[in-house]
Amino acid sequence: MIVPGDLRRAVLLIYQKVVQMKKHNFYAGPSILPEFTKEKTAEAVVNFAGTGLSVMEVSHRSKEFVAVMDEVCQLVKELLHVPDGYSVLFLQGGASLQFLMVPYNLMGKKSAYLNTGSWASKAMKEAKYFGEVVEVASSKDANFNYIPKDYSVPSDADYLHITTNNTIFGTELLKEPDAEIPLVADMSSDIFSRPVDISKYNLIYAGAQKNLGPAGATVVIVKNEALGKVDRPIPTMLNYKTHIDHGSMFNTPATLPVFACLQTMRWLKEKGGVEEMEKVNIEKANMLYSELERNKLFVPTVTNPEDRSRMNVTFIMAPDYAELEAEFLGFATSKGMVGIKGHRSVGGFRASLYNALPVESVRALIETMQDFEKNK
Ligand SMILES: *Cc1c(COP(=O)(O)O)cnc(C)c1O
Repeated sequence: MIVPGDLRRAVLLIYQKVVQMKKHNFYAGPSILPEFTKEKTAEAVVNFAGTGLSVMEVSHRSKEFVAVMDEVCQLVKELLHVPDGYSVLFLQGGASLQFLMVPYNLMGKKSAYLNTGSWASKAMKEAKYFGEVVEVASSKDANFNYIPKDYSVPSDADYLHITTNNTIFGTELLKEPDAEIPLVADMSSDIFSRPVDISKYNLIYAGAQKNLGPAGATVVIVKNEALGKVDRPIPTMLNYKTHIDHGSMFNTPATLPVFACLQTMRWLKEKGGVEEMEKVNIEKANMLYSELERNKLFVPTVTNPEDRSRMNVTFIMAPDYAELEAEFLGFATSKGMVGIKGHRSVGGFRASLYNALPVESVRALIETMQDFEKNK
């Protein structure tokens, strides 16, 4: 017998699957997640691990949730091939709190930063509370549309901080800079999109909401040896050691986001890990950049192909067609494209091609661009 609640759900499902147009989610963050992550999380919101309770209403110290935290940290290590001697943490406060925690814990008197955009600039601002910050190079002179190449790094700095993917400006550092000192990286928007040599880094951090899960969790991978070297006292919550000693449970972790991150890690493993992900990400990015090179209406904002982000593809109307920007946005929206409006500091458009975005969505965007070009 169908009761009204079931009927309503069935109608909603049919509406979503059939009537509502397919949406292609290009948001920069929070952003698209795998269907697997959403489905498993939706199930656990109602009945978590057979407890009959929601994942939102069980103790973080229950054996069921401790198992979630253990597995997610284990999978981060496995998928990124994290060497021994590193700890994986799930913290809160986003990448923005890491801008502060990194220098608090790792910077004695001097640190070095590569300034490749707004996030890098914000990270530098926090480091200045702790001592001398050397800006080794900056691409601010060209609105951050390239990655600086030739610069020297002071050998007496405690680390060189890089932002591997510049979510706003559409550039990516696919190869680590040559530096004699350890690296620290904000990988918020490209973590798990490709393999990384973790051994070059003292610390990596990433807000979950770009390539991992919902907002509210922040992954930190830290080399244990790099800690405990600064003289200053570090408040308890801002000290990485606190969180290492308590397995990311010194205070209540973001249980629901961490659960969702675990589902994404399982999905990623099933897909063949970051190595397979990288292949698909290269394919998706190549498809879209090729179209941007071909289509007379658009130009990519990052001119050097080497510096182009695979995760966030930024583009503007070609000068002769500048007045068509609003019209294209409307046209693309009518075709189911969501979240392609560019960040206000770049303008134009930005298509984010995170791990969970299927190739068919990139194809749909390209067809939309071609359809729009035909009538112009
Ligand atoms: C989104 C983003 C941030 C900010 O993350 P929050 O979690 O909002 O603090 C920092 N750095 C990069 C590279 C980002 O993409």
